[in-house]
Amino acid sequence: MMRVGFIGLGNMGGPMCGHLVASGYEVCAFDVNAGALSRLVDAGAEAAGSVSECARGAEVLITMLPAPPQVEAVWLGEGGALSALAPGSLAVDMSTSSTAVGARMVAAARERGVDVLDAPVAGQSIGAQAGTLAIYVGGAEQAVARAWPLFEAMGDPDRIFHLGPNGAGYTVKLLLNLLWFIESVAVGEVLSVGVRAGVSLDRLHAALVGSPANSVFLERDVRMVLDDGDYDEAFPMRLVTKDLGLAVDLARDVGVPVELTALVEQIHRRARAQYGDDAGEISAIRLYEDLAGVRLRLGRT
Ligand code: NAD
Repeated sequence: MMRVGFIGLGNMGGPMCGHLVASGYEVCAFDVNAGALSRLVDAGAEAAGSVSECARGAEVLITMLPAPPQVEAVWLGEGGALSALAPGSLAVDMSTSSTAVGARMVAAARERGVDVLDAPVAGQSIGAQAGTLAIYVGGAEQAVARAWPLFEAMGDPDRIFHLGPNGAGYTVKLLLNLLWFIESVAVGEVLSVGVRAGVSLDRLHAALVGSPANSVFLERDVRMVLDDGDYDEAFPMRLVTKDLGLAVDLARDVGVPVELTALVEQIHRRARAQYGDDAGEISAIRLYEDLAGVRLRLGRT
């Protein structure tokens, strides 16, 4: 069985790595957080003492780290993973990171004869635990084929998308998050105005779901807030604003003016400032509730 290294064992990486262990791969794991590492050792992974120790001997090395600075440090920093990987091995970053750091990784890996894939995911920590993540992959065909069984162990085989060369996975992931976060602001505004205008939330929500303006966010995802007052702390605002910042950077890099994106990013930054770094990802709706002086809850009118 293939020897796999896995670095970054948090909310997402912990269960993802667990699926690889459960599938029979020989897994060596590392995290700077000793508690996160010991959970994987209990599950059957071997513990590495450092990034380079985890990379040494791995045929495929996977990272699931918070943001571009950690991705850059782990792969390209002093004692970093790329300098420890053997020629012919495969480097896979599954973090939501930037195409700029990804490009630097590809350049350094090429010099060492290492292939690279970007393969960020969607599906929340629930999907990571269930092994049903969607995976958005950028990189060369033969490298994708090599990693495919690993992706299938962590994700939903029908939602593993090979999107193009290196960078395409990061790009699509940032754009799908952007669209979802635009929708959350739009839904927060619309529902708050409707309720303040005197329409019952139940009737307003049902009418919008049955209209041409319906969306998955409106019909399904916002129900966490409307049913339970749950703003989804499994994905915190510090990661929301990180992803939106990366989407703004991406648009700037490709020269497309994105006034809406810039405004939406600032609205989410305001929600983070107001409710905290660890507040749930739908906190922008809470901002509108507070501005309008309403609580958007179904079954009350
Ligand atoms: P997390 O903060 O729970 O986990 C990150 C882990 O990386 C932590 O255990 C941390 O100790 C470790 N780490 C940080 N720096 C390190 C280093 N230098 N060396 C070794 N380990 C290091 O984050 P998460 O929720 O698991 O998210 C990981 C990535 O997945 C992020 O890019 C995030 O945007 C993305 N993502 C998260 C979700 C979600 O619902 N949480 C969904 C989709 C994508």
